Amino acid sequence: DREYVGFATLPNQIFRKSVRKGFSFTLMVAGESGLGKSTLVNSLFLTDVYKDRTLLNAEERISKTVEITKHTIGFEEKGVKLKLTIVDTPGFGDAVNNTESWKPVVDFINCQFEQYFRDESGLDRKNIQDNRVHCCLYFISPYGHGPVDVEFMRALHKKVNLLPVLGKADCLTPLELSQKKKKIREEIERFGINIYQFPGCDSDEDDQELKDSVPFAVVASNILVQIKGRRVRGRAYPWGVVEVENPAHSDFLKLRNMLVRTHMQDLKDVMQETHYENYRSECIRNMTR
Ligand code: GDP
Ligand code: MG
Repeated sequence: DREYVGFATLPNQIFRKSVRKGFSFTLMVAGESGLGKSTLVNSLFLTDVYKDRTLLNAEERISKTVEITKHTIGFEEKGVKLKLTIVDTPGFGDAVNNTESWKPVVDFINCQFEQYFRDESGLDRKNIQDNRVHCCLYFISPYGHGPVDVEFMRALHKKVNLLPVLGKADCLTPLELSQKKKKIREEIERFGINIYQFPGCDSDEDDQELKDSVPFAVVASNILVQIKGRRVRGRAYPWGVVEVENPAHSDFLKLRNMLVRTHMQDLKDVMQETHYENYRSECIRNMTR
């Protein structure tokens, strides 16, 4: 029998350490106001994320027309802790001058990179508060989309894991929905928008399916409705109930499973290895110039 030093348990140790420390994740939502962003966040995390509304007195560089808010909540499920931060960018599309409405959002993302970069080069590197944005859900209207959306996504796509979603999907018939999705996918391609790539598309059926579902069509609700003796999150209409968590009604579950269960770590890795790394090397280039 071969003797072992014993480092095969290393992955377990790392896993246990991160379980003890807990996980953290920062999700940003952006897009025109009224598309159901806040409602979706509450539906995704089965809570009222916004109950203690605190206005982030954003850095001076952040324009006054868009108030960026930040909410942090702690979760614990089966002994696993998650600190979730939601960055909400309300009112986009309402600003008088729509032409550069993405600017405060880009500034915000840069600010978090800048802070992290500074802390990383500082003395207390072990206890860095990481506020970088891991993923941005960009909401597209079911009623129509246009140049503002393209411009917004293009301003963000190299800085953050961008995931387009189609809000209020219950406003469209299945046929309209599939046509709209196709059109949006074509535009993403045509305008060279780099959205988040599901890592296993070539080999993994699940990732391919996720890719084919983009933009995720979502339905959200803060209301519980009774159907067949069950109480579910849904939207009750005279002709029936749209159930948020019913896969036949929307891509909501696909989105939540992807964000929470299957791709959270990959989103964090891509943020670190691609988006932050780009920022970091740019900084270093500027310093040595
Ligand atoms: P936000 O401005 O993007 O944060 O949008 P809100 O979450 O505040 O929602 C705006 C309005 O749309 C509210 O009246 C919601 O009840 C409604 N709403 C939210 N999600 C949906 C949805 O999936 N479908 C429909 N039809 N309405 C929704
Ligand atoms: Mg909102």
